[in-house]
Parts: sequence; structure tokens; C-alpha cells
Amino acid sequence: MDARTNSGCSARATKKAQEKAKVIQRETQEQTAKAISRILHKCETERTQEEHSLLQEHPDTVQELSRRQTRRHLLKRKQEEVFDDAENLKTKVKDLAKAMQQAQHVVIYTGAGISTAASIPDYRGPNGVWTQLQKGRSVSTSDLSRAEPTLTHMSIWMLHKVKMVQHVVSQNCDGLHLRSGLPRNSLSELHGNMFIEVCVSCSPAQEFIRLFDVTERTALHRHWTGRLCPHCRSELRDTIVHFGERGTLEQPLNWKGASEAAQQADVILCLGSSLKVLKKYSCLWCMNRPANKRPQLFIVNLQWTPKDNLATLKIHGKCDAVMRLLMEELGLEIPVYNRSQDPIFSFGTPLSAEEKDSHTRKEIAPFSALEDISQDPQAQTEATPLQGGWFGKGYSKARRKKKTI
Ligand SMILES: [Zn+2]
Repeated sequence: MDARTNSGCSARATKKAQEKAKVIQRETQEQTAKAISRILHKCETERTQEEHSLLQEHPDTVQELSRRQTRRHLLKRKQEEVFDDAENLKTKVKDLAKAMQQAQHVVIYTGAGISTAASIPDYRGPNGVWTQLQKGRSVSTSDLSRAEPTLTHMSIWMLHKVKMVQHVVSQNCDGLHLRSGLPRNSLSELHGNMFIEVCVSCSPAQEFIRLFDVTERTALHRHWTGRLCPHCRSELRDTIVHFGERGTLEQPLNWKGASEAAQQADVILCLGSSLKVLKKYSCLWCMNRPANKRPQLFIVNLQWTPKDNLATLKIHGKCDAVMRLLMEELGLEIPVYNRSQDPIFSFGTPLSAEEKDSHTRKEIAPFSALEDISQDPQAQTEATPLQGGWFGKGYSKARRKKKTI
């Protein structure tokens, strides 16, 4: 009995000693790694003889830490905003104008970067929604319904009008292309439109364009808006496609229009999109063709994009600045957005009397109250925390989901 107890005790003691040794070894390794990391951050000429020896003694740790350091630098560089100088920008825009003049079929892909001038924050820029959420910060923005088509939206409208652009594919849900007057058959809103709700029980699906953001109660995988179809009394849903969802609605997504346009395109112009999501839609890039048979690719973005190495030309400039130069080069006028002529007022379906209070979002108005707000600088800069809808909930949920995988 005693012998057994003794041997039990000594086994426990051995195990304890082994565990302690492991802890000490791990701590030593961590300390060495920290010391090596500090040395690697130093300029080579500033390293002492001992430091050089330490690096030589731990080649694996040095290699691993150097690899991580390079990766961190690369990531940082990809997030940096780069600006071409004025002269360079002008030369590049001249090349773009020439390509557009020679092309038969030009398609424009747009992302959040074209709406930042309309006070809608972008997604992946340094202050973008995605970047902020990734850092665990909350997102707030001014009322999105106050946003209006920018110089870029209006230039695109004009380019389409004079038949220099055949189709526009947008990732934006802000509805600003539609509100610039771009005809719907020339537009694919791949991720939906915050002003549109649809009845999918009716055949064909019935669409209702509202003068307010219909998404205040919707989120990832939860699309019912709380209002009913006046024809069949079924629930209406929004048209937003969140991260991780597959868009199935024919309109306003218009995938058919987007893929046909890409097939026919000889020039694709990407404006203000990180292309991190768009790159996944293979039909937009004609990658099944040999490189010399693909459309010429022009990218306007301040940050790195995953398509940069395939681009004929990368232009580092703000969309409005580039479009202003482009329109000047093409000798085209940039129309000024006129809210009283915003087509949303003619498309809009008024709410029935009993649904008048079915939302709390501000309605777009041709004149009146909204005019006063836009003239009040304090009201314009005031940021309201975002409660759900297409902008808030989808992103935070997608982030949580990603974490658990
Ligand atoms: Zn219906």
C-alpha cells in the first residue's frame, strides 16, 4: 500500500516537474521571440554583435517573424490611400478618354467610393463601415436619405445619354444611380436598392419604390419590411443582398443585364470599388477568355484592389476629380442634379392610409423641409447612430458569423 502511494507520489512529482519545465521552456521561447522581434525592427547596422549571434542561433524564429513582418507591411500598404499627382492624373485620364472614344461597348462598375461625396461612408476605406466594424468600433452616419447623386453619378448619366456608356453595374444600395435618371434597363444594382420593396408572391414579382429607406426592420436573412402587397396582401421584402447571401431577385439586381454587358464590353471602368466582392462574380470579368481577348480594364480607386495587376491603367484619384477631368477631356457637360426632377418621385408608390406610420425614416421631398436641412450646416454634419437597416445590421452579423467559423 505504502509502496503504491510512494510510486503514485513520485509519478505525480515527475509529471509536475515536466509541466513546470514545459512552462519555463515556453516562457524562454517567448522571451527569445520578443528579443528577436525587437532586433529585427532595428536597422542592420545598429545591431550589436550579441544581437547578430542571437539571430544566427534561431534561424527558424527569424524566418517566421520576418515573414509576419512582411505580411503586415503588405497589408498596411494595401490599405493606404495613394494619390496620383495632378500632371500624372491628367495624362492617365487622357488615356482613359481615348480608350472610351475608341470602344464600342463601355460598362461601368461602381462601388461606395462614388457616393462618399454624398456623405455616405464607403466600406473599406480608412474610415469605411467595414474597416470600423473590423476594429470593433460602432458605426454612425448622417441620414442616408439626405444623400443626393454626386458629380460622378451625374457624369455617368450623361455618358450613358450620349451613348458612350452602355451599362452600369453597381454594388451600392443607395439608389443614387436610379435617382440620377439612369434608365433601369441599363442598370444592375447587384446588392439591391434601399428604396425598393417587392412582393415575391405576385407573379411576376411586384415592385414598390418608396421615398424612404425601406430597410429599417430588415437584416441579414430577415428581409420582410412589415408592409403588405396591395394586390395579394402578402408581406413585402426588401431587395438588399447582404454579405453571405445570394441575390435571387430579377430586379433591381438585373444580373442578366450585367453579365450580357460584361460579355459585350471592350472597356470596363471601375469607379470607387475595392473590387473585393465584385472580383468573386466571375461572369463580370471574362476570365474564361485569354488575356488579350478580355475587355480593357480601367480602375479608379485610391487603394489597392485585387484586379490591379490585370488593369490596363490604375488611376489613383477621387472619383469626382477623375470624372470632372474625363468629362472635360471628352467635351461633355456635367449636369447638375435637380431634386425636383428626380425620377424617384414619378416611380414612387405612395403608402396606403393605414401604412402611413409603418416607418420612421425621413422621406425624400422634392422641396420644402429637406431644403432647409441641406442649408443648415449643423444639421448636415450631425451624425445619427444607425439602427439596423441595410447599412448596420448586415455588416455586424456577417462579422460575428465570420468569427465563429
Ligand atoms: Zn403580391
